[in-house]
Amino acid sequence: MIAINRSSILTWLQEDDPFRLEELWREADRVRQAGVGDEVFFRGLVEISNHCRRNCTYCGIRAGRTGLPRYRLTQDEILECARQSAAFGYGTVVLQAGEDPELTADFIGRVTARIRQETGQAVTLSLGERTDGELRAFRQAGANRYLLRFETSDPALFRRIHPPLAGAGRNRIEMLHRLRALGFETGSGIMVGIPGQSWTSLAEDILLFARLDLDMIGIGPYLPHPDTPLGRRAAKNAAIRTPEQVPATPLMTCKAVALARLACPLANIPATSALESLDPEHGRESGLRRGANIIMPDLTPPACRPLYSIYPGKAGLAEDLEQTGARLQAMVQKLGRRIGTGPGASPNWCRRTGVTPG
Ligand code: SAH
Repeated sequence: MIAINRSSILTWLQEDDPFRLEELWREADRVRQAGVGDEVFFRGLVEISNHCRRNCTYCGIRAGRTGLPRYRLTQDEILECARQSAAFGYGTVVLQAGEDPELTADFIGRVTARIRQETGQAVTLSLGERTDGELRAFRQAGANRYLLRFETSDPALFRRIHPPLAGAGRNRIEMLHRLRALGFETGSGIMVGIPGQSWTSLAEDILLFARLDLDMIGIGPYLPHPDTPLGRRAAKNAAIRTPEQVPATPLMTCKAVALARLACPLANIPATSALESLDPEHGRESGLRRGANIIMPDLTPPACRPLYSIYPGKAGLAEDLEQTGARLQAMVQKLGRRIGTGPGASPNWCRRTGVTPG
């Protein structure tokens, strides 16, 4: 047993002995198996718009980035991607976008209802910060889940990387509570290795996952984008690594994934694309071996995929959808795990709402 408290989390985050880390990996894998089983669920990710009104300093589709062609998929294009996801046997479609005001409650409500009715898949939304009225409309249209990373639990760091929008009053933690109250399976997460992220703040992030009783947790390394303020600064300061700075490495990301699994045994946790982008050969696999149970293949139409450039070097850009799916499925089987069928609701959400898992 590994206890989950501030000091044990800090110790594990700073542990670098591969032999001792084996204990963390073993324990995370054991808790994953006991909590969410051996099934790995696939989610079809559709990046429906790269328009964004925000100016997050880390993100390559921020409003202030000029020279990036912008796109927004139509209802029919989104439906086509959802059909593709169903044809691959996936039980969930994830609609993700920049914070695009043209993606109105009406637009998202209609496309969500169509996906639910025509394909029977669960729908996860990840559309940034939204009003209560919008969230209620999404839920009424049949949306099952919502992903909103809090990115970092350090309020000062968060304000620096995610400048507030005039007139938008709420913060992300409040919105997560709201999502929960509306009945959504509620997901959040962080980036590991944001410039200015300290060990103690990363430890706090993991404790916050448990306090929020999250149903889904996405953790990826911060990947500097050269056309962003934070990315440019990261490039300039690459040689300076202070002892307080958490490194944005695959190993550190895996430690955070493993600790998140110990903190939230029943949550769905993806092996993220950002982890795969940083470590194309082993990223997804090491995520799945160290606590993760979900994979989200990118089903965005190939012409748009490079334009949803939140970070550089996105994995899988050169592959076609069939190739990616086949490669990921073979990897799951090699690990001795099963590919999940059906929507794969979060066991944590099932527990707290009294729904029978299935
Ligand atoms: N507009 C939505 C969706 C953003 S994209 C929102 O803000 O919630 C989903 C996630 O990608 C973000 O939450 C962030 O954690 C991650 N991301 C964005 N830029 C990144 C970068 N440069 N490196 C690594 N992850 C990044």
